[in-house]
Amino acid sequence: MRLFRSLGGPAAAALALAVPLAAQPRAPLDRETVLREVQQEVLGMAKLVQEINDMVFSFAELGFQETWTVDYLTGLLAREGFRVERGCAGMPTCYIARWGQGKPVVVIMGDIDGLPETSQVPGLPCRRELVPGGPGHGEGHNSAPAVDVVAAIAVKRVLQRHRLPGEIRVIPGVAEELVASRTYMVNAGLFRDVDVVLSTHVDSDLRTTYGVTGTGLVSTLYTFTGQSAHAAGSPWAGRSALDAVELMDVGWNFRREHLRLQQRSHYVIVNGGSQPNVVPSEASVWYYFRELDYPHIRALHALGDTLAQAAALMTSTTVRQRVLGASWPQTYNQPLAEAMHRHILAVGLPRWDSADQAFARAVQRALGHDSTPGLRTRLDTVLEEAQQGMGGGSDDIGEVSWNVPTVRLRYPANIPGTIAHHWSAAIAMATPIAHKGALAGAQVIARTALDVFTDPALVAAAWRHFREVQTRQYRWQSLIPPGTPPPTHLNAERMARFRPQLATLRYNPRRYRTYLDQLGVAWPTLVCPAAVPRGPTR
Ligand SMILES: [Zn+2]
Repeated sequence: MRLFRSLGGPAAAALALAVPLAAQPRAPLDRETVLREVQQEVLGMAKLVQEINDMVFSFAELGFQETWTVDYLTGLLAREGFRVERGCAGMPTCYIARWGQGKPVVVIMGDIDGLPETSQVPGLPCRRELVPGGPGHGEGHNSAPAVDVVAAIAVKRVLQRHRLPGEIRVIPGVAEELVASRTYMVNAGLFRDVDVVLSTHVDSDLRTTYGVTGTGLVSTLYTFTGQSAHAAGSPWAGRSALDAVELMDVGWNFRREHLRLQQRSHYVIVNGGSQPNVVPSEASVWYYFRELDYPHIRALHALGDTLAQAAALMTSTTVRQRVLGASWPQTYNQPLAEAMHRHILAVGLPRWDSADQAFARAVQRALGHDSTPGLRTRLDTVLEEAQQGMGGGSDDIGEVSWNVPTVRLRYPANIPGTIAHHWSAAIAMATPIAHKGALAGAQVIARTALDVFTDPALVAAAWRHFREVQTRQYRWQSLIPPGTPPPTHLNAERMARFRPQLATLRYNPRRYRTYLDQLGVAWPTLVCPAAVPRGPTR
């Protein structure tokens, strides 16, 4: 691929003005030079990486309610010249930010949402809530926009400088913790003209993989309707919807023994009635049915439906269902993973200092681990194929991965041994550990994107592998019934409850270098203080 080499000096500027673009002399530009250039662009934005990471951490917004996050990120991207479209696929916090023209189209995509009950003061090796009972970044999704937005800006600048064809886009993983946005995005056609998706996720290591990984799932809400009555005066007149929920759950828990060991299924009762002396006329239970592939996911979901019907029969109630989200397991593209792996080796793990390591060990000690190795210092040099093994978690990037060649970067912004979906996974997420890990991640993503933009053979190889290997056995189809709207009502009430408190805790980068500074947390704090340190807020 031949690239423009920029000319320097006023004479060159005059020449550029006088000569039409197409007539300017083209000189082949070494690919390594462009890759180093984009990496330098990222390194020049280290401060922005820290600010985005800390800002989104302080927002602590739950899935579908990521409005501050999206206002902030789209503002940054628009200022850099990206064309921003908001509210895509029927979701207010979905956005597409585009820069450039033509082919290839490369999407950078990472999650942006937090988790309930994981509010946590960062930089302390113990449980201390910022907002009692509040949401937080108990998985570290706040670091993904730092990686994605900075990488996209760096790529845009290099594309612009060398007048390279192609389009870079950022699309956020909305409500990933609910596994509830990507199916709607795919069905709305957001990836129809996309050539490659580079996805990102927080980890304690810098790595990628290819092949099928994780489980897929259906997330669905069963609502039973019965008859209310005075629970003591005329219980015979009532038909309890709560009885139906409990019988369904009991039935499922007996049946569990006779399911494939690879399945994972779990539920929460989101509505169990109002008060004991009123027979509950309505009750709801929310199930996740997880399995390793599409046929097994469908079969497990169908069994759930059978048990719901059976519970309704037993209690003379009726049942209806609302599918909320779904995903196939993830399938990652081998040629893209091989390319990304080369950039992982070129970038390497962050250089942790003694404060980072001391803090990581203090956290591992506090969590009761036998060994406290601290942060990873050795990179795995071998690219390994993913294994589904005996099942586990899911991620709706899976939906994208069955529609477009997709690869995922895991970057080292968290401490090994912390527990995901738990306050411990939030501890490091607004500290130098997250800042350095996200900066490493942004470099790898920017380099991999430039690789795609400057090597048409890579795009061709990715698609060949996608058609001939990845989708040979199964062609993706939606596990969500057609016409189902995205469940954007989820988390609305909970988020509204905590927003006033969170508003007082928003990071103010004009006054404070970091969020730790704003909170008055010294770095590194190795012993938990008796009181929550709380510096002056905004
Ligand atoms: Zn996640």
